Amino acid sequence: MVNDPVCGMAVDETKLTGQSGYSRQAYLGKSEYKGQTYYFCSANCKRHFDHSPEYYLDRQSRPTNAKDDSKG
Ligand SMILES: [Zn+2]
Repeated sequence: MVNDPVCGMAVDETKLTGQSGYSRQAYLGKSEYKGQTYYFCSANCKRHFDHSPEYYLDRQSRPTNAKDDSKG
C-alpha cells in the first residue's frame, strides 16, 4: 500500500499493475514525476497532482509533528 500524495488516502498499488487481471475499472491513477511513481485513489487526485506536483510533494515531506524547539 502507498499513500495518495494528494488526499493522503491509502492506495493499493497492486491493483494498478493489472497483474491480477483487473479491468480498466480498477485503474485509479498513476503518475510519474522526476523518476518517481505516485499512485492516486482517483483520477481526480491524479489531475490535481499533475497540475502542481511540487505542492503536494512538499506538503507530504513536511514533518507533521515538527515543533520549533530550536526557538528560544
Ligand atoms: Zn486521493
